[in-house]
Amino acid sequence: MIQLYIPLNFLGVIYREIKQSLADMERLFSLLEQNREVADAKDAKPLQTHGARVTFSNVEFSYDPKRQILFDVDFTVPAGTTTAVVGHSGSGKSTLSRLLFRFYDVNSGSITIDGQDLRDVTQESLRHAIGIVPQDTVLFNDSIEYNIAYGKPGATKDEIVAAARAASIHDFIESLPDGYATTVGERGLKLSGGEKQRVAIARTLLKNPAILIFDEATSALDSKAEQAIQAELKEIAKSRTTLVIAHRLSTVADAQQILVLDHGRIVERGTHQQLLAADGLYAQMWERQQARKDEELKSPVEEAG
Ligand code: ATP
Repeated sequence: MIQLYIPLNFLGVIYREIKQSLADMERLFSLLEQNREVADAKDAKPLQTHGARVTFSNVEFSYDPKRQILFDVDFTVPAGTTTAVVGHSGSGKSTLSRLLFRFYDVNSGSITIDGQDLRDVTQESLRHAIGIVPQDTVLFNDSIEYNIAYGKPGATKDEIVAAARAASIHDFIESLPDGYATTVGERGLKLSGGEKQRVAIARTLLKNPAILIFDEATSALDSKAEQAIQAELKEIAKSRTTLVIAHRLSTVADAQQILVLDHGRIVERGTHQQLLAADGLYAQMWERQQARKDEELKSPVEEAG
């Protein structure tokens, strides 16, 4: 019994960790079917997407009944457009993406994709329709080719190379000792944060999902790497419904819609220009961030230390 308990307990811990970080969720779900907190309805149908309009209607949510996290969250991401969510740490941004992926069910209200309630569709079809570029991509101890192909089981080498090129990581891979066969991950070559995100982008390009969730890394990449990732992201977000969970405001200015979350409520919404003109929380956050940037420029030595 104890023998059984330990690995199960261990899996439970890993499950919670990974679930929290949104990393590698598809693989995890296939490994730990029994741990799902939500189940398919008996008559669940495959999700049919036609452009993939995402709507949160009056969503209320709590992980723990004693503490509500989201209050009356109501917004639509029109098909093929980008919505960015900003707000202080703990305001509920990542929770929105966990709900869209249906890690949890809402307490009240609903989430729909092209009019279909997430609770009425099969989880397999839902997860097939959503691609995630997580904050911190987990790489398997396998070849870099395997790690990219994971986005589309059975992908051809040509498809893998095309995805790697589009994610601007092909040249880097070619420069590795064994090229695409190089082992990466914990026991192989360690990739930088930016390189890992590129692998995740290549995976997502192969998967070609109708909906994209981009959970921006909290640890800042250097600004050149960040700009490059932004450019690639823009490319894959084109013609896809995209939700960006933004931890830095510099990356959201182009979004068609920005939602400002504060303690689980949407307190402002609009484009970057509209929100600056409104002179509210977003404008304050923007000003603070600009001031911080100016400070960093003035004292690069301090920052390096
Ligand atoms: P950050 O910018 O720091 O990533 P966030 O805005 O994405 O923050 P969330 O991760 O959505 O915030 O968390 C919102 C609130 O929900 C936080 O107060 C957090 O402590 C709480 N929370 C998150 N995950 C769980 C969980 N599994 N169980 C209980 N509470 C949780």
